[in-house]
Amino acid sequence: MSNTLAVPLPSLNLIGDQHLAAAQGGELENINPATGQRLNMIPRSTSEDVDLAVSTARRTFDSGSWSRISPRTRRTVMLKWVELMERDREVLAQLETTDAGKPIANTRSADIPLSIDAVRYYAEAVDKITGEVGPSGPDRFSYAVHDPLGVVGIIVPWNFPLLMAMWKIAPAIAMGNSVVVKPSELTSLSILHVANLALEAGVPPGVINIVTGLGEEAGAAISRHMDVDMIAFTGSGGVGRQLMRDSGDSNLKRVALELGGKSPNIVLEDCEDLEAAARGAAWGIFYNQGQVCTAGSRLLVQRSIHREFVEKLLEVAAQIHPGDPMKSKTELGSVISEQHLSRILGHVQQALTDGAELLLGGERALESSGGFYMQPTVFDQVDPQWALARKEVFGPVLAIIPFDSEDDALAIANGTEYGLASGVWTGSISKAHRFARELRAGLVWVNGWDACDITMPFGGFGQSGFGRDRSLHALYKYADLKSVSFSFDA
Ligand code: NAD
Repeated sequence: MSNTLAVPLPSLNLIGDQHLAAAQGGELENINPATGQRLNMIPRSTSEDVDLAVSTARRTFDSGSWSRISPRTRRTVMLKWVELMERDREVLAQLETTDAGKPIANTRSADIPLSIDAVRYYAEAVDKITGEVGPSGPDRFSYAVHDPLGVVGIIVPWNFPLLMAMWKIAPAIAMGNSVVVKPSELTSLSILHVANLALEAGVPPGVINIVTGLGEEAGAAISRHMDVDMIAFTGSGGVGRQLMRDSGDSNLKRVALELGGKSPNIVLEDCEDLEAAARGAAWGIFYNQGQVCTAGSRLLVQRSIHREFVEKLLEVAAQIHPGDPMKSKTELGSVISEQHLSRILGHVQQALTDGAELLLGGERALESSGGFYMQPTVFDQVDPQWALARKEVFGPVLAIIPFDSEDDALAIANGTEYGLASGVWTGSISKAHRFARELRAGLVWVNGWDACDITMPFGGFGQSGFGRDRSLHALYKYADLKSVSFSFDA
């Protein structure tokens, strides 16, 4: 397995313009999941580091050096940041692949360009946001404006380390906020590099601060902090619940949560292109080794086409093999950690015990590499009540659920606690509209899967969370609405 990187690995927190080790000297080993080998050490930050980052962010915010400059100036600086990210595209792709085990083909074509796109989108949007004038009557003049919140804590996971962070950092700072970001302890490198580029672009020190470390230490210190105004979080439901408790126990900071999913991908018998649907279904679950919150992990297939469709799906899936993520032809990399691989294998074992029919995979792969690889895995005849149809696996494991009628499909699709993504494959416009209306999910894809579009809101219904990333809606999440009224004699 090749993993020699030509770029230096960022190994220190960024607070203001200072590159700092953890105040108490703690460090965490950062592992390359493709080889199981240590990449570098990163700071194991504690509340001391978080306090420094928050007070730095607050001071910068209060100084007005970013929060009160004109939106057009913020736009210009952010567009310079975009240029520098473009310059370092390849460096970033290599950092992300090495840190997260993702195929380099994906980090080059998706993670990095989509992250840059997020900064460009919010940079270009920020001088187009206006307030409103109220219809108050003849003796008053009223208007409402969007005020930045202040200090935003951003806590993100490891599956799209840079992209999840940029979907939050870009709109938060575009609105004038300062941020304190805690990446996942498993994937801190790309965001540290990009935060340094922000300084180089002219974003004032203290607007973007990055503190690495463990969730229960650095993360909890942010979520319980009395001077953080908001937490924007992407991650698991369990941690999301904890963040809401932390908010209630501290300063009632705002909380926005992007959580997990168990997304249904529905193939109706009138689907006009079963090959395209089979490719969509396979990549809907195997992309990024299945570690995607919107993975189409439940494939609902109408019984009349079940046999034919499953054959087509298996033809696609059988061509997908795990391999060294640094090789440009690799389509399936390693999962994030040994511990996560064991969790995935535990789900496979449970599905077998419950009686699901294993059609493909089910085992660890490439063990001699030292990395954490999993075969693409397909289970058929999964009962909607079994764990495999209800719990998020977050790995390359597909549960096929046959159904008879459209009503059955909708009941199964809507029958979990989640509501993040969903999809329907059909040749009928009216059926597509019916499903789009009745699916309880923040995202509905018709005849496709995962149309990743910065202009459209992204987020969940139900226990998949609340608040939206992407689109102009995300900008407003990072602002308070202030009403101003002038009284005078009419
Ligand atoms: P996780 O919830 O374990 O960790 C996410 C982040 O929270 C990490 O930075 C972690 O260190 C931090 N954290 C953990 N405990 C904390 C605590 N007590 N206080 C503060 N911070 C804490 O999730 P993960 O394993 O990194 O990522 C996988 C999960 O993320 C899956 O459930 C997946 O569905 C979800 N996810 C959701 C979306 C979305 O947009 N809806 C996108 C990607 C991933």
